[in-house]
This record gives sequence, structure tokens and C-alpha cells, in this order.
Amino acid sequence: MSLAHLLVRHALQSPQQPAIFDGTQMHASYGQWAARSEGLAQRLRDAGLAPGDRVVLFMRNHPRYLEVMWGAWWAGLVVVPVNAKLHTREVEWIIDNAQARWAFVSSDVAPEPLAGLERQIDIDSPEADALLAPAAGETPPAERAPDDTAWLFYTSGTTGRPKGVMITHRNLMTMGLTYFIDVDAVSPDEAIVYGAPMSHGAGLYAVPYLMAGARHVVPSSGGVDPAELFALGRALGPLSAFAAPTIVKRLVDHAEETGLGAEECALSFKTIVYGGAPMYVADIQRALRIMGPRFVQIYGQGETPMVATALSRRHLADIGHPRHLARLASVGVAQTPVQVRIADEHGRALPLGEIGEVLVKGDTVMAGYWRNEAATASAIRDGWLFTGDVGCLDEDGFLTLKDRSKDLIISGGSNIYPREVEEVLLNCRGVSEAAVVGAPDPEWGEVVVAFVVPEAGSPLTVDMLDRHCLEHIARFKRPKRYVLVQQLPKNNYGKVLKTELRSMLH
Ligand code: AMP
Repeated sequence: MSLAHLLVRHALQSPQQPAIFDGTQMHASYGQWAARSEGLAQRLRDAGLAPGDRVVLFMRNHPRYLEVMWGAWWAGLVVVPVNAKLHTREVEWIIDNAQARWAFVSSDVAPEPLAGLERQIDIDSPEADALLAPAAGETPPAERAPDDTAWLFYTSGTTGRPKGVMITHRNLMTMGLTYFIDVDAVSPDEAIVYGAPMSHGAGLYAVPYLMAGARHVVPSSGGVDPAELFALGRALGPLSAFAAPTIVKRLVDHAEETGLGAEECALSFKTIVYGGAPMYVADIQRALRIMGPRFVQIYGQGETPMVATALSRRHLADIGHPRHLARLASVGVAQTPVQVRIADEHGRALPLGEIGEVLVKGDTVMAGYWRNEAATASAIRDGWLFTGDVGCLDEDGFLTLKDRSKDLIISGGSNIYPREVEEVLLNCRGVSEAAVVGAPDPEWGEVVVAFVVPEAGSPLTVDMLDRHCLEHIARFKRPKRYVLVQQLPKNNYGKVLKTELRSMLH
């Protein structure tokens, strides 16, 4: 069983069913999608690419993204979707590391030939048209074992060279099925919109939406333009989307600025799944207030894609619960196919309430890092994935993340979790965004430094921030320095780049 069979199944069952949209225009029905992916598979095979070979996708979101991915899987290949914002040298490093043979690129992302490839295909060229044209003969999907790699996902490499995470067919099948249990039910007349990059979490959600035989919408802008997304939703029926918290914020800002109420938002969006970075309590409360009950949170990582915990719509709506605020600050409970545990540095389970490293075990956990046994052995021990995230579990099974272990600040021997300070700062009037890092200090080891983005037009001052912190947080956690900035550095997936913030302090 390979992921290609999901497409075969729907193409047989409902070939006329609309599948892929380019903006509001239908780009492919399920029958057309399957015919194009099958055609590509046949040509990949004819060109000598064998099951297990790697094909890179280095392009912005594009309706053909899905046709190429499923074509590669049809031929039994491994896809390597690469962040479209990477530098040429970084993508060439990945091509070399993955020993990739072909790459599909968009010319705006890769205008020049990339080193190390046998063939580079511009996704908008006649060459791509020919590769994706339906072929004459039949090509059954290549047989794949559940533990064969389907997706080689390169980590963002913030702490060194990126590593290739081997995500298997079983991992993605499990992730897809889990969506329906822990995130949202999906019927064939629904649609997902790919605003966030398809090389990451958003693209992974093609799996459950294909399982459901639903529609896949790629915005014409290829990215996140809130006005466009709201309009697409009104035109095509309420959409669902995966969005990092910074994207959620932009959608909520748009709704507020244009005076859209929850009912109007419901015409554009059915479900917004958020995750990938911390969602602060003040921000999710505002999102729920303005856009209504259409949010679900997930926590996962490349090494266990989209699946570790989830905070359901029901939990988010349960405002009468005595621990509601704590739940809003949490990432919810373990998703169905995994166990989650908190452990000390030796991997021993800690009692409830204690803070330690988050471990995950189950069928969504990666097979390992590509050609990196040492890194695999340290990340997966006794079947448990050591996530590098720090958190604690409460008595109801809700996980609260503190931070990545490397972002923890140790000042005067005390642990300070940046997230806690960030939550407090965000409650100060006039603060739009905040990120807290540790700066080296001869006396304290590290001191807390807060980077704060003021809301447009706000007269926010350092004094106001400091007074707010004095009132709301222990003195030792209070930032010793506040830096007001126009924006926070973020990667293409909406994660604040704390390494960049730290380097700004030197
Ligand atoms: P990536 O492997 O690039 O998907 O990044 C995964 C990391 O993002 C996790 O290990 C967490 O540190 C962070 N992350 C993912 N989901 C959440 C969430 N819901 N809340 C807070 N942090 C998250």
C-alpha cells in the first residue's frame, strides 16, 4: 500500500469530482489528477528513476505540487519538498545530501540551474506539461512497504546542518486518518486551502483531504493574502486551512479591520488548524472572539508530523471549565495513535506536573534521520522520540509546552521559560508581538531580553512594559532589557528565529 493508492481509489470512484483548484478555477478533477500523476510516474520510470530515488520540489505553492508529489509516489519515489525561501547554496546542500536526481522548481524560486541534478524542470514550462500529460498505457502504482520512506523532510537547521527526516507511507497514512479523529471530520464537498507553504505542514494535510475526496485550493498569490483567502472561501464554500499562529493573527486582523463578524467569517472558513509555534492565550482568545469557534490546535514536529497532541474545538469552547485558561495555554491531549510522556534527561518518566522533555511514541514517529545513525540513535530511544521540547502534563492529560530546551534561559541559577514572559508581555496594552531570549551576562550567566513589536500607532514605551512586568511576573523573570522593533525575524513557516534575535545582541 502506498499513498498513490489513495488517489487511485478516488479517481475510480468519482473521476468527475473537482479535486485541485488554482484560485477559483478548477485545475483538475480527481480523474485528471490521477491521469497526470500516472503519466508522470510512467515517464519517471522510463527515464530510469527507480523506487526509492529522490525527487526535489523547490517551488512556491502551485496546483501542480500535488500532481508531482503523487506522480513521484506512484513511481515509488521519495519526495523532498524544500522550503521555497532557502538560499541556492542551502538547497544544493539538500540535493547533495539526499542524492536527489530530479527537481521540479518554479522559476521565481530557482531562476538558475541547481548543482547536482540530472534534470531540473520548470513547473510552468512545456517540459512539465509533457511530463504531466496523461500517458497511453496503464502504469500501476509501484509497490511500497509501509516503512518505506515517502517524504524526506529537511529540518530547518537552526542548530546546525539540516537533517533529512524519513517520513514513511505508514507515518502519513496514520497522520491522515488521525486528522478525522482528533482534528476535524471532512466530507467530499469540503475544501482545504494551501496558504502556508506546501513543503511543510500545510502540504501534509493534502493526505487527509485526499482520503476524504475533498477539494484542494491553491491561492493564485501562492501565499497568504488574507483578503484573497476570505474571498476564496466565499467563492468556493467555507475552507479549512493549516496556519501558523502568525498567519492566524493576520486573518484575525483582517476580519477586525474589515468589520467581519463570526458569522461572516464562517462563510469563508470552516476550520483553522493552528500549530507549529506557540499560540499565546491573549491571541487565541481574540481569534475566537472575532472569528468564532473555528479553531483546533495541533502540536507535532517534522519527526512526528502534525501528530503529538491536539486541543480540540470542544476544549477551546469549554469556557466554563475551571482550568480553561490553563487549557488555552496548553497544546491539548495526546492524539489517538501516540503516547506522550514527560521524561528526565535519562528518558525516565516524570510524575505529573513536573517539567521535562516531551517524548512521543507511535506510528507517526519517523523511521529516523536520513543516513545519520548517530542523530537517529539520540532522537529515538526505545521507540520514544525525544522532541527537544520542554513541557509538563497535568492530571487530565493536557500538555503545556514551556519551550525548546535550547531556548530555556538560566539566570542566576533559575530556569526561566521565555514563553511565560512572552504571555505576560502580550497582555500589556499596545503590544502586538513579543519574543524573549537570554543574553550572556557575566554576573547572572544569562539575562532576560524582550523584543517587542508595538501595535501600529501605539505610544508604547520601555517604562510601560517594565511597569507591566513588575505587576505581573516574578522579579527574576522580568526582562533586564526591552528592545522595541518593527517586526520579529521569522522563517517561512512562521517560527520566530530566536538565534537571529540572540545574534542581534552581540
Ligand atoms: P517543525 O519540525 O519545523 O515542524 O517544528 C516543530 C517544533 O515547532 C516543535 O518541536 C515545537 O517546538 C514547535 N511547535 C509545533 N507545534 C506547536 C504548538 N502547537 N505550540 C507551540 N510550539 C509548537
